Parts: sequence; C-alpha cells; structure tokens
Amino acid sequence: MRQNRREFLKTSLLGVGISFSLPTALAVGKTENGQSSQLARRRVGRRQIHLDFHTSEYLPNIGEAFSKKQFQSALKIANVDAVNIFGKGHHSWSYYPTKVGKMHPNLKFDLLGKQIEACHEIGVAAPVYFTFGWSHNDAIDHPEWCSRSEDGSLLTNGHFDSSAGPDARKPDFHWIFMCVNTSYHDHVIEQLEELCINYDIDGVWMDIYQVSRPCYCNTCKEMMFAEGFDIGKRDEAIRFLAKSFKRHQESVTRLVQKYHPDATVYFNGCTAINRGAYNFEHKMYEYNTIQDLEDLPTTWGGYDKLPMQSKYFLNAGYPITAMSGKFHTAWGEFGGFKSRNALRYEAAAMISWGANCNFGDQLHPSGKMDLATYKNIGDAYKYVELIENFGIGGLPNARVGVWRTFSAKHDEGTCRMLLESHTNFDIANVGNKDFNQFDVIVIPGKACLEIDDAERLKNFIDSGGGILVIGSGALDKAHQNTLVDIGAKYLGKSEFDKDYLVVKEDIGSGLVKSPFLCYEPALRVAPHPDTKVLATIREPYFSRTYEKFTSHQNTPFKLVDADYPGVIQNGKVIFIAHELDAIYYDYGARLHRDLFANALGILNSRPMVETSLPSAGRISLLHQPDEGRYVVHLLYGPPIRRGKCEVIEDLPTLFKVPVTLDLSKDIKSATLVPEMRMLPIEKVGRKIKVTVPEFSCHCAISLVYA
Ligand SMILES: [Zn+2]
Repeated sequence: MRQNRREFLKTSLLGVGISFSLPTALAVGKTENGQSSQLARRRVGRRQIHLDFHTSEYLPNIGEAFSKKQFQSALKIANVDAVNIFGKGHHSWSYYPTKVGKMHPNLKFDLLGKQIEACHEIGVAAPVYFTFGWSHNDAIDHPEWCSRSEDGSLLTNGHFDSSAGPDARKPDFHWIFMCVNTSYHDHVIEQLEELCINYDIDGVWMDIYQVSRPCYCNTCKEMMFAEGFDIGKRDEAIRFLAKSFKRHQESVTRLVQKYHPDATVYFNGCTAINRGAYNFEHKMYEYNTIQDLEDLPTTWGGYDKLPMQSKYFLNAGYPITAMSGKFHTAWGEFGGFKSRNALRYEAAAMISWGANCNFGDQLHPSGKMDLATYKNIGDAYKYVELIENFGIGGLPNARVGVWRTFSAKHDEGTCRMLLESHTNFDIANVGNKDFNQFDVIVIPGKACLEIDDAERLKNFIDSGGGILVIGSGALDKAHQNTLVDIGAKYLGKSEFDKDYLVVKEDIGSGLVKSPFLCYEPALRVAPHPDTKVLATIREPYFSRTYEKFTSHQNTPFKLVDADYPGVIQNGKVIFIAHELDAIYYDYGARLHRDLFANALGILNSRPMVETSLPSAGRISLLHQPDEGRYVVHLLYGPPIRRGKCEVIEDLPTLFKVPVTLDLSKDIKSATLVPEMRMLPIEKVGRKIKVTVPEFSCHCAISLVYA
C-alpha cells in the first residue's frame, strides 16, 4: 500500500531518531520563548550533510554518474539521517525541470527529484537548498536585480575588479549580491512555489542573508526615502535592509508552510556573529524554525565560537544544528579532507554543546558521491549515534552567567578564558532568563548596557549576586559614567599606549609578583575609600613614539604605582580596569586568563563542575529534565595552527580525570558514556566526585537524579 507523505515520514523517520510534529501554525512574529515548545517538536536530522552543488554552465554532463543506489549507499555509510540537497545554486541553475527558472543546460534529468526519492526511500530527510543573496547568472541577466554600493557600483563579496580581463583569476568567494527589494524577490517566490507544488519538501534552506551589507540601488534608495529612513546613516540603511529581509522571509515562510506545514525553514547568514551585532540587534533569525550555526573552525577563526552560539540559541528556545565541513579549509574546496580525528572531535563537540550535527560536502558535478568522504564522516557519526541522546535536547545550566555584548572579540575573548579555565557558564541576557539562577554574572568589556539592564543587575546584586565586569562593560554607551556600581568614579581613558599590572595577594594565586604587561592600557577610575584594591597599575615612563622611544617595543614601567587601580572590589562587584577579554583574544597570555579566573573565583564560590583537564580540554554541562539527569561532557582534541588552518590531528588519552560536581539535585548514579559503565561516586561535603578512568577525544558522565 502506498503511504501518503506524512505517514511515510512518520514511520521512516522515527526509526532513525528524528522527532516528528503535527502541522503547526505559521511561526511568525512570536517571541523567542513563545516559539520554543512549538518549534522544538519539528523534524530535524541529528546527523546531517549539507551537500553543496554550485555548478556553472562550464561543467559538462551534470549528474550523469548519479545513481540512486550509490547515493543511498554513501548516506548509509555515514549514518546520515538528513541531507540538504540542491534546488538552485549560486550559478542560478535549477537542478530540476522548471517553467519559471532555468534548468542547468548540461543536466538532462530531474536530479533533485531523484535525490529526494533516494533519500525518502531510506528514511533520510531532504531539505532543499535554494540560493538567495548570490545568484550569478541572474545578476548578469538582470543588472536591475543587483545590490549596489553607495557609489552605484555592484555590491560584491570582496573587491570587484571591473578592469579584470576574462582570463584574470577570479578571487575565491567572489559573488555579486542580489537585492531583496527588486522583482528578483518575486522571481524567487515563483520558483519556490513551483518547487513546493512539484516536490515532497521536508524543508527549505535559503542561503546568503547578510544584513550587514546595505543596498543603495535606486529601488532601495526610493523606498528608504519614502519610509523615512536616513540614507546617509549606515545603521539606518541596515535597519531598512533588516525590515526588507524580514518581509521577504515572511513571504517565503508563508509560502512553504502553505504547501508543507511541517517543513523546516531556515535563512542562512542570520545567525552569524562575525559581521557585527546586526543579526542579534534585529533578531534576523526569528523566522528560522531551527538555528543552523555555520562555522568552519579550521579557517573561520578557531574552535571557540560554537559554545557561546549554542548556549545563546538554546536559551532563545530553538533547536540548533552545528554546521562544519569535511573540507580542510572551507566551502568550495574540491579534494580537501579534514582528518578523521578532527571530524570525530567536531561531531562530539557538537553533541556536547547540545546541537544536531551537520558536515558540509560538495557533490562532484557528475553526481557521484565521494565514498572516502562518507567513510570519514561515518566514523564520526557512528560515535554520534552512541552519544547523541546525552546531548541533543539538553540545555546549558550554570551558576556563572555571561552577558552577551555581541562584540565577537569581547564575547569570544571572555568565552575563551572561561572555556580554558573549565568554568561552566551560561548566557545571562537571552530570553527572559531569571538572573537569580546565577551566583555571578560576567560582563565583557564593551559598553552595551541599557538603563533597564543596569537596574536589573542592581537588583541582582542587592539580592546577593556577584558581578565581574571588564573595562568599558561597566560604562554607559556614551562612555561617560558607570552603570554598574564598581565602587569608583570613572575618570577616562589612559594617556599611555600600554601599562602594567601588579596583583595583590587576594587574586595573586599562581601569578607573578612582578609588574606584568597589558597590551592595551586600563581605564582610569578613582576608587571610593572603602573599595578594596586587588591590583595596582604601573604606568610606563612614556608612550612609544617616533620622538620618544626605548628598545624594541614597549617602554618599561615606573617604580611607583599609578594613582588609579587595576582591579577593585566593591562588595560583590569586581571591576577589571583593562579590557582583558579583548587582550586575551588578541594575545592569549596565560597570566591574563589566570588573573581573570582568580577574580571570578572570589565570586564564584559554588562552581557546578570542577575538573583538572589541560587548557585545551573543554567541559559542557547540560540538563535534560525530561530524562531526570545532568550530563557533563569532557572534550580533549587540541587544535594546532598549521599555516592558515587550525588542525586537530592527535587525540591523546587522558587518565584519571577527576570531576567534582555541586548540583542542586541529589545524584543517584553516575554512568560513563558511551561505555555505559557505572562510576563510583564519592561524597565530599555537599559535592560529589567521580573519576573518569581514561578517555580520548570525548566522554560524558550521565548523572541521574530522578
Ligand atoms: Zn536594493
């Protein structure tokens, strides 16, 4: 008997660990928290592939080697349960017969249809990729659809050399942006409707939404003027683009969910943190039914972006997918391979941070899957199958909260110091988070607090909470006054280019007693009489200039302390006058991290997890209330910089790793995952201690309280 689509999915997908939901109302305009319970039930793959297929017309015989059996066998080798396959790529070609778009001229059959059929036959979900922001042939055929810079030139990713001849090498990742406010939007909607009518769509994966790149084409300029936006201000142009994208996103969402009510909808680019705070200021991700966190750690800035991103979006109430790639560098790299160990580490880390897994691959134009790639991913996904139930569905839980400033440098610098000192933390300012769950909130060094925030933080302090605030994080956005009561008056910036810290006993554990260098100078504050000074500052004799300099680098310190301090404590508020997070992000000096950890240690008297991993080790504590358990994940796969890339190659075994836990529930048992071996529990006062005999790459401890 032929099953209808929903019956088919229900029977086939449940068997591979995909949750299924009844049709839900269009998720438009709801609050972050309001979306959570509804959207969490949507069907999402746990072991996904993103199968890139941007094939230009210069490639012959598209898909001629495609075989349903070979395609299926690759997915099976890798234990895949969902794959993003291509409807339309950046060269504007469709991979299916179309009346409203253009099928690839060298494709002779319905590749998309065959791929969907192949996936569904083996119970694999197949969301359809569809490009939006980059569409090369559409741009060439319709210059009026292109985004423009302020000077009227084409808005491109990277420098566009208009004088380059046809034989000049094209820079990598070089595309023209398309404008959302032209009839290009209508064209895309028409194409999507055709797709929705003709195919059994599990979801759409729309690509290239970069709100940080405002458009100044004639249409946008006229609309900005008519709608009262100030064209002369970049922030206004971005706000206008955000509004425009959302109008488009709502149309796409309504269209897709009209035909396929349970389909996932995702707009890529809207969760990125590397192009300023705009995605977060404008909540560009709010039409996404799931948040995919795209990150290629080998070349996109390392392995420490996912922890903060995952904690943020889980708290915002969304299911999340962590996206990396099988490539050694990044997207578009044919023949590049990440090592098996790196894939295994990345996959284990994704689960540890509570995310579904996705690795990007790029299908050969012939349509034949590269089995070596799927064997490598399969090794990682085989491990994921063993541990996924202990990560996906878990939520971060911590007594240390971090205030997200949405400055990638400050947030990530803070995050790195916490991760490397194995401090369990959560995000404080997301959704309607109750500050009372925290013992201490860390505010990174960017002035970002509003008056309301300061009021909430004051109440938190009054009810016994601690604040560790870094540099400008204590100031109002105008950098005039403090918004957090640090026990000092703000005087202004330092007149020097660099300075030095001298720590006192209370925060001096493990630190040198000599003055040590800070690569950026402190803010100057005048402490009140009863404020405790935890570290003093030594100024240099002078700033290094062409006229006045000594030796190769920074000028040495004076022999007396400056009349403004380096670290102060006002009751439960500790203020670090240097922007230690940004300094750590740029320089990574252990002295700075240890100073931060010592200061935090004064306030963080009840850490939920303590361990003694090496600094490249990571801990993640997840709470799975439905399972009645906490799970603490331990990771160790130190990345090493080799050339342009961060490489993980070695997964050394660690032995006898102690884990001490101070949880608010009475723990009944501790089980080592994935071995599923019970670990003895030692009671130490109100804490419990377990020891992991040995692990390589990853292990978890399931702590059952129910
Ligand atoms: Zn425009």
